[in-house]
Amino acid sequence: MKRAPIGRIGLLAAAICGLAAPSGQAMAEERAGSLDKEIIRRIIRRHINEVKGCYDRELAAKPLSMGRVMVRFTIAPDGTVPSSELQSSTMGSPAVEQCAVDAVKRWEFPKPRGDGRVIVSYPFVFLPEPTVLVAGTKGAGEVVVEWIDPAIVVHRTTDAQGVPSNGLVAVTDAGLVLIDTAWTDAETETVLRWGETTLHRPWVGAIVTHDHADRVGGLGALFRRRVPVAALDLTVASLGRHGVRGVTTLFSAAAGAFADPRGFEVFYPGPGHAKDNVVVAFPAAHVVFGGCLVKSTEARDLGFTGDASLAAWPDAVRRVDARYPDFQTVVPGHGPVDRWRAAYGHTLELLRAAAPR
Ligand SMILES: [Zn+2]
Repeated sequence: MKRAPIGRIGLLAAAICGLAAPSGQAMAEERAGSLDKEIIRRIIRRHINEVKGCYDRELAAKPLSMGRVMVRFTIAPDGTVPSSELQSSTMGSPAVEQCAVDAVKRWEFPKPRGDGRVIVSYPFVFLPEPTVLVAGTKGAGEVVVEWIDPAIVVHRTTDAQGVPSNGLVAVTDAGLVLIDTAWTDAETETVLRWGETTLHRPWVGAIVTHDHADRVGGLGALFRRRVPVAALDLTVASLGRHGVRGVTTLFSAAAGAFADPRGFEVFYPGPGHAKDNVVVAFPAAHVVFGGCLVKSTEARDLGFTGDASLAAWPDAVRRVDARYPDFQTVVPGHGPVDRWRAAYGHTLELLRAAAPR
């Protein structure tokens, strides 16, 4: 059962360069005013439906069109927007691009401090609504795919007990890479088939982020299709102890990290939720897949801690936080996607609450 595509605009990673004059000389003679980034974001948010309307019209004609449209505009000393232009775009739609550029010109901002102009570059990210691939029964067995970037999709499956679990589909130039399987082979196969038929790319690999059922439960579907699966050496060894062969070593815990030429980094921050938990970071999209090391901002407790290292876990979270300081979007192993990198702090709070006193 598929829902009709309705537009969604991510207000993320707002690359607002306030008073700077990015193109040097041309702007150098203008007096630079200043305006708080939060105020600029608030005004944009207030008008976002005007830009969303541009996208909805496009979706009606071309389902699954998406992309990032960077608009550069000037806020005059009186708060109006005398000029607005397209800076860059991956949308491939002149209609949406022009519509967004024109919309911004109608907006009014507070007067900048210092009685000067403010130049703003703002990325409007246009993404389709989540698609339900399998509806499930009262939530159980549901399979949903949700874009969080034009090149990254979260796959979310809910088990029979109603526990949702997140993995990713990375859309790379080489093809599709699955980060963690769904709960079961059948659900994983649903995601694989969707990728093939909807994204029109082959599956070129998979990575599992530790050895637990919510990460590796659907390995059989990958093996059947002969999709190469890789993991940390500790995960490969642990799977082997449970009689699971066929997963190759991507890198060793001693090496610490692996820069995958397909456009992401896999990082081992040390033991936390599990001894072998790794995270996957996407520099182009500023997204971190935290897996089960990172709890969702809605999580009330740490979940299953049978294989956890509670004493080492906080440092592991801090290492991820410090390594990707400007990656705004964090995908936890379970629960909603965090757009404001608040999940690290929340995980640390849960760990503090769970610590023996
Ligand atoms: Zn786990």
